[in-house]
Amino acid sequence: MKSCLVVDDSKVIRKVARHILETLNFAVAEAEDGRQALTHCESSMPDVILLDWNMPVMSGMEFLRALRGSAAESQPKVVFCTTENDIGHIRAAIAAGADEYVMKPFDRDTLHSKLQIVGLA
Ligand SMILES: [Mg+2]
Repeated sequence: MKSCLVVDDSKVIRKVARHILETLNFAVAEAEDGRQALTHCESSMPDVILLDWNMPVMSGMEFLRALRGSAAESQPKVVFCTTENDIGHIRAAIAAGADEYVMKPFDRDTLHSKLQIVGLA
């Protein structure tokens, strides 16, 4: 079973994402911000991370830079999840090491296709 860490400060988004991912046979863990996500990755690196952009404590971008700059042996796929539809944000996320991005609100088909693109579904 593949594992996915859902990182979002919105409980509703985490719940929706968890439900979709479980129907796609992922083992799902959740984090409320980038700091919690880093702690999770230090003890258990997921196969893929669904990452929110705007979060308190540590943003998605700060988390991504820390993750990609770390000496971790294995690096997960990262799908950036954002409401920012401007191309600048997306470029910055890809440059920082994101593999794909998905616009909120997303549905099962959209998320499934993004996971297929990164080779995990
Ligand atoms: Mg947010």
